[in-house]
Amino acid sequence: MTETKLIDGFADSLWNKTATDAPVSEPLHKTSTGHAAHKCDVVIVGAGFTGLNAALKLASNGVDVRLLEAGQLGIGSSGRSGGQVNLGLNLSPAQLINKFGESRGERVIDAVGQAPNYVFNLIKQHHLHCDAVQKGWVQAAVTPALHRQQESLAEDYARFGIELSLLDKAAMQTATGTSAYVGGMVCPVAGCIQPLSYTRELARVVSQFGATVHTESPVTQLEKTSEGWRVSTAQAQLTCNTVLLCTNAYTDSLVSGLAKTMVPVRSVLMASEPLPQSLRDEILPGGITFVDKRRLILYCRYDRDGRLCIGDHGPSRDMFKLSDFDNLKKRTNAIFPQLRDVRWDYHWGGRVAMTKDTLPFIHEIAPGLIAGMGYNGRGVAMGSMMGALLADKILSDSNDCAFPVTRPDKFKMHLFRDIGVGVAIKWAALRDYLEGL
Ligand SMILES: Cc1cc2nc3c(=O)[nH]c(=O)nc-3n(C[C@H](O)[C@H](O)[C@H](O)COP(=O)(O)OP(=O)(O)OC[C@H]3O[C@@H](n4cnc5c(N)ncnc54)[C@H](O)[C@@H]3O)c2cc1C
Repeated sequence: MTETKLIDGFADSLWNKTATDAPVSEPLHKTSTGHAAHKCDVVIVGAGFTGLNAALKLASNGVDVRLLEAGQLGIGSSGRSGGQVNLGLNLSPAQLINKFGESRGERVIDAVGQAPNYVFNLIKQHHLHCDAVQKGWVQAAVTPALHRQQESLAEDYARFGIELSLLDKAAMQTATGTSAYVGGMVCPVAGCIQPLSYTRELARVVSQFGATVHTESPVTQLEKTSEGWRVSTAQAQLTCNTVLLCTNAYTDSLVSGLAKTMVPVRSVLMASEPLPQSLRDEILPGGITFVDKRRLILYCRYDRDGRLCIGDHGPSRDMFKLSDFDNLKKRTNAIFPQLRDVRWDYHWGGRVAMTKDTLPFIHEIAPGLIAGMGYNGRGVAMGSMMGALLADKILSDSNDCAFPVTRPDKFKMHLFRDIGVGVAIKWAALRDYLEGL
């Protein structure tokens, strides 16, 4: 592949090559009687982890649901992601209590704590074929100061019954195969999945429960009418009581101002050739997943064939070039020198939705029009859990949701977001460098 050849962040991914087949799905057409309008209880916009999990819970509780997805299944972040099913948000339990108060904060922490097991239990319960591995996650600390932060974070989580264990330098080297870190923290309930397979398998099960998933059906307009919400695509319309917006980093201008609550940051991933067993026994033996604790993180895991998939931040655009991976290759070689001669077979990437307070949100934009999104790079477990919480909100017809219903702040100067993100990444890289990270 030449340095300048454009890389399609979805089509060129490892996941697209190895995923379980997609269930058959069609765009939303006019009704068989030629009418443009259909009726249902809930329309979900966006068929990624969030939308599909919401649909699954709603449909399995007898709600008449339709999902409208602009492209093919998984075309958003869900089908491109690293697939790490991780615990936690960007704020610690203590910070969450500080922000939301004792009782609400505890419910948020509980939802966050349950999220990884929620995903793995769902996979077992519905026999989702998505190469699920629940062998834990290790977060690596580059400096003693960062390792001390991990110690207090583990204590903080322990107060809420969530167990994290700590590794010293020697244990860390055994767990990861690198001497680059002074210590680490392990979350045993975490793990990884093949994210595009998980998405497609969720869609298969959702359909079995009677919900209809329409791919290639971008929603172009939402209007409140006397009969409920009218949801339009170029071909047809749906009328429903409730619309769930599950569009995360791929949110467009459908609802005025919603896109301004998030800034899309790109993350890129590459996958190696299948590694020989000797290397797999040395680097992340046992199938644990890995993230290092810097401002600009590096994350990795194996796929089912022993390919190491490793990622970090990307450029400020949606199409990638091979040269966009140079920095990632340099960082990988510095941390795992054993990988110097390894061939990198796949390169891809996508958008991560960053919010102002670094937390996801549920936002009731108008009665019956609800958005759930903003995962800041932690949407595999949290997006799945959020989908279930959004469904609970509709099923209970109340605002008493485990995750608070809030009004997210908007980013000023959103038009210049890509320039701002580019500057912020350079600044973060400089601070990591100056602090020896
Ligand atoms: C490279 C990369 C690596 C990542 N790694 C991890 C990881 O290892 N662990 C982790 O926890 N998180 C990770 N993330 C983040 C995670 O993938 C996301 O948080 C998660 O997929 C969000 O799921 P979602 O369903 O909310 O959104 P998406 O999967 O993005 O789905 C939104 C969908 O909405 C559709 N849409 C948008 N507008 C419309 C419209 N008008 N009409 C119809 N449909 C519309 C889009 O086409 C899209 O398919 C990663 C993200 C990227 C990009």
